Amino acid sequence: MNDLIKTTCPYCGVGCGISARSNTEHRELIVKGDESHPANYGRLCSKGSALADTVGLEGRLLTPYIAGRSCDWDEALTLVANRFSRTISEYGPDAVAFYGSGQLLTEDYYVANKLMKGFIGSGNMDTNSRLCMSSSVAGHKRAFGSDTVPGCYEDLELAELIIFTGANSAWCHPVLYQRIKAAKLKNPNLKIVVIDPRRTATCEIADLHLPLAIGTDVLLWNGLLTHLIQHELTDSGFINQYTEGWLAAKSLVESGYDIENIALQCRLPIEDVKTFFNWFADTEKTVSLFSQGINQSSSGTDKVNAIINCHLATGRIGKPGIGPFSLTGQPNAMGGREVGGLAHQLAAHMDFSNPNDLDRVARFWESERIAQKPGFPAVELFDAIHEGKIKAVWIMGTNPIVSMPNADKVKAALQRCDFVVVSDCIAKTDTTAVAHVLLPAQGWSEKDGTVTNSERCISRQRALFPPAGEAMPDWWIISQVAQRMGFKQAFDYRKAADIFREHAALSGFENDKKHGLRDFDISGLAMLTDNGYENLKPTQWPVNANYPNGCERLFADKQFFSKSGKAQVIPVSFRPPSNTPNDRYPFILNTGRIRDQWHTMTRTALSAKLNQHTPEPFVEIHPEDAKHFDLQENDLAEIESRWGKQLARVVVTNEQQVGHLFIPMHWSDQFANLSRVGSLVNPVTDPQSKQPELKHTPVRIKAFKPEWYGFI
Ligand code: SF4
Repeated sequence: MNDLIKTTCPYCGVGCGISARSNTEHRELIVKGDESHPANYGRLCSKGSALADTVGLEGRLLTPYIAGRSCDWDEALTLVANRFSRTISEYGPDAVAFYGSGQLLTEDYYVANKLMKGFIGSGNMDTNSRLCMSSSVAGHKRAFGSDTVPGCYEDLELAELIIFTGANSAWCHPVLYQRIKAAKLKNPNLKIVVIDPRRTATCEIADLHLPLAIGTDVLLWNGLLTHLIQHELTDSGFINQYTEGWLAAKSLVESGYDIENIALQCRLPIEDVKTFFNWFADTEKTVSLFSQGINQSSSGTDKVNAIINCHLATGRIGKPGIGPFSLTGQPNAMGGREVGGLAHQLAAHMDFSNPNDLDRVARFWESERIAQKPGFPAVELFDAIHEGKIKAVWIMGTNPIVSMPNADKVKAALQRCDFVVVSDCIAKTDTTAVAHVLLPAQGWSEKDGTVTNSERCISRQRALFPPAGEAMPDWWIISQVAQRMGFKQAFDYRKAADIFREHAALSGFENDKKHGLRDFDISGLAMLTDNGYENLKPTQWPVNANYPNGCERLFADKQFFSKSGKAQVIPVSFRPPSNTPNDRYPFILNTGRIRDQWHTMTRTALSAKLNQHTPEPFVEIHPEDAKHFDLQENDLAEIESRWGKQLARVVVTNEQQVGHLFIPMHWSDQFANLSRVGSLVNPVTDPQSKQPELKHTPVRIKAFKPEWYGFI
């Protein structure tokens, strides 16, 4: 076995540290939790523990392919560069697009964003993080003037009240859940509230579960704000000195948010609502954790601001054990936000909407072709491909034919697109199947770079094995294409450390009182030597002259990044989900993750151990509904929406509410027939964040009775 190497888990946004020993010859791995990593202190969940099962060469993409023919790198890269260049010269820069992933390392993401926005000159670089946390980004920007997660994981151990709202962390952020469970054992005063329409595994440690009517979160949080106002429990000193917008928000919630009305509309027992309000009011040390149940909604941004408003009204932000806390889904969703991976972002937390930012980034990149406006966000991007407006697309490390809403339309869009490039470490996915060019990217155990987790902690991912076949780092692939498109000087990177230093330097470029302060500043790492980069320890940004060793909590000084320096209380009203159930589609379909699979299973399904947890796509249904629709446990069912169809095994459970169904997001056509839940999902998006409503689609269900079926 080789020497111990410290790296980071590639699955969720907790960002656990891993200590690994590899045997290169046999491609074997021993994986343990890194006891010194501040995210997990040695813990790992089932997915992280099973990483050794997923590093074999089975299913890997090992060489470039053009139209199904294996070829060498030079031919593939030259073709990609030529086709993109030709499309741009014929139709303009907005006729091409990149679609990235929270699986990319920060260095990969930085180079992709720089090429599209800085040198091709289009905003059309979006990412699957759009589906995951763009409502949190939009909510943070509105409230703080910056996309800032104020707190840190330690706050979860210092809190006396933790509210999980739209977050099944027991399954989706398991190590954080384990930390909270341990904290609860140590501290009998720690209360846990779970706000979720489903009775999820997270409820196991809940003192109170509020199974609210799906989509009514704004009502509940506005009701809490009203309660705080009516009982004079707000922090008027903080509100007056450090916030703006209070009067507008206050007058909005003063009518229609009395507790009886809230309980009725959220379909919750009034006593439980009162208990929640009283616990919040009485507990200074409160952390509100929110995730996809809040974000994946046509009113996701308003939900985020409704939560933050309650924290601002009580001055509960920027202190130990206190704060609103968005949990990212993917391992590097936060890194993607830092580099500007979303189509409306520019780079380093700078925006298209600010002409000074545009000028600044153009000067830093020494580019005269920088995009002047945002590009298409994910749903609109695939619509634009479908309509023929985008004629060449490069998909990096993600599987949109499975994960996007209205996924059949996404598939049709890619099938009719003139030129589809997919770079991935896996050969056969639903999306690689429609690519004209396949580019083999290095997998987790071969990659070298950085990721940032939910608490802004930058960690190194280090290579454990030599690259499989001819696989190359994503940043190298993108840089090679950029060089062949004529941008040699700007993309002449030799190693990941070169890119990291440039990214760090951009974050600090004109980031000062004179030009305007930005929250994301890691200029303290811009001069890192190669050795320093190699040995970089987990560090929470910002890292600059004020915080040379990183910073656990932001906003302790009550200075925000809005123009006035004050936090913004945003008045938000309840809007019901955009498509409500009707006679034709009487159920509400909710989607989410299961404990032992990751995204579209391209890697976790390689582990027999992980597959044992839940081997088939399933649909959860309440016993009353199952009876009414003549469905028994283990039957097959056909679920249908306006947008598509799926087959799934029936699971009858009281964990669902009457009228609700739940289907996990993971299965694809690689694993089962008609199994992509994305094909059912409503493509409507939030007006601010453009995040799709993955948790609320009207559907119908009926028994599916085949003559026969096979199971392998
Ligand atoms: S909690 Fe997340 S980051 Fe940690 S081991 Fe599990 S999947 Fe990996």
